[in-house]
Amino acid sequence: MKIVMIGGVAGGASTAARARRLDEQAEIVVLERDHYVSYANCGLPYHISGVIPEREQLLVQTPEKLKQNLNLDVRVGHEVTAIDRDAKLVHVCNSWPP
Ligand SMILES: Cc1cc2nc3c(=O)[nH]c(=O)nc-3n(C[C@H](O)[C@H](O)[C@H](O)COP(=O)(O)OP(=O)(O)OC[C@H]3O[C@@H](n4cnc5c(N)ncnc54)[C@H](O)[C@@H]3O)c2cc1C
Repeated sequence: MKIVMIGGVAGGASTAARARRLDEQAEIVVLERDHYVSYANCGLPYHISGVIPEREQLLVQTPEKLKQNLNLDVRVGHEVTAIDRDAKLVHVCNSWPP
């Protein structure tokens, strides 16, 4: 089975991790248009207020870690511009590296 997840923060990363636990063989691709995945956006106010001084403390996951731990193929800088459900295709604008 091949699964394509669009968006790689809270919803996308959680769903991709759950999909991996349900199927160890699935090919799971996560397409994220931004340059970060699975970051703690709930912590942003604490970073802005200085309670969490280093922005790196919010970046708990990277594409490399998600590959290593869950065998997810995470592609940042990849924006999905269209979904063709009949052909089972997604159209992607790749802006990586920035
Ligand atoms: C400052 C702040 C504080 C918060 N605090 C809390 C809290 O205390 N408790 C709580 O429960 N929730 C909190 N939330 C809300 C919680 O973070 C959201 O519920 C969660 O981020 C939603 O996750 P999501 O993955 O659905 O959407 P998003 O976080 O919006 O992620 C969607 C991702 O999809 C990507 N994307 C969108 N379109 C495309 C496309 N076409 N192609 C490729 N990628 C695409 C976006 O770049 C984005 O990274 C907070 C949110 C913020 C911003």
